[in-house]
Amino acid sequence: MNTTADSLRDLHLLHQRAKALRDRLSSGPKTVAARQAALTNRQAALEASRKALQEAKVQLKKREHSIQSHQAKIDDLRAKLNQVKKNEEYRAIQNQIALDKGQIEKLEGEVLEEMVQIDERTAAQAADEAEVKKFADEFARLKEQVESQAVPQRVQLQELEAAIVEAEDVIPEDLRERYRRTVKQHGADAMAPVEHGACSGCFVTVTAQMLNDLINAATLTFCRTCGRILYLAEEDVLTTRRTAQ
Ligand SMILES: [Zn+2]
Repeated sequence: MNTTADSLRDLHLLHQRAKALRDRLSSGPKTVAARQAALTNRQAALEASRKALQEAKVQLKKREHSIQSHQAKIDDLRAKLNQVKKNEEYRAIQNQIALDKGQIEKLEGEVLEEMVQIDERTAAQAADEAEVKKFADEFARLKEQVESQAVPQRVQLQELEAAIVEAEDVIPEDLRERYRRTVKQHGADAMAPVEHGACSGCFVTVTAQMLNDLINAATLTFCRTCGRILYLAEEDVLTTRRTAQ
């Protein structure tokens, strides 16, 4: 068994690549779910404003009908005016006509205001519909992209996992259990290069004995502070080689 820096570095790299893939595989669906929720909210808001606009149009129609019925009433009253004989009755009808005319004026003012509002809201609604449609199209593209990428990513992850098992051959049998525990605890960060004489996981300096063990590469060396599996960084390997010569 030879736990050289190269073989451990390769194993570390495989762990890191597998983690990056797992992260991508889990972040893609999360992004899709978040966008889906946002799209659903926007569609619900759009539907609510569409209904409110419809309701406003119904109210407008009602006022227009109301104007017509006041107008019809005035026409009836005018016909009556020609038939009444008493002054008192004549004045009462004239007063009623004036009241209805006042109602019509008020309603016409409201109708005009509502028509302007409805026009503005119709234009805003159309713009919102177009925007939500664009958002929905973008969402559909994103969803398709994430789903189609997931297939090769899963295959790649399986390949990486197989490569990790193979690369784990360098782990001495008696340290497999400890290696597994460390990987379980730290994930892809379970291994750390020793850079400038310190563990790059916790930045604590390694002892001369540990450095010797790393150079001999006969067994695994664990950081005494953070527990990570250590290996020499490339430049440290070169330095130690130069020192040895
Ligand atoms: Zn450490």
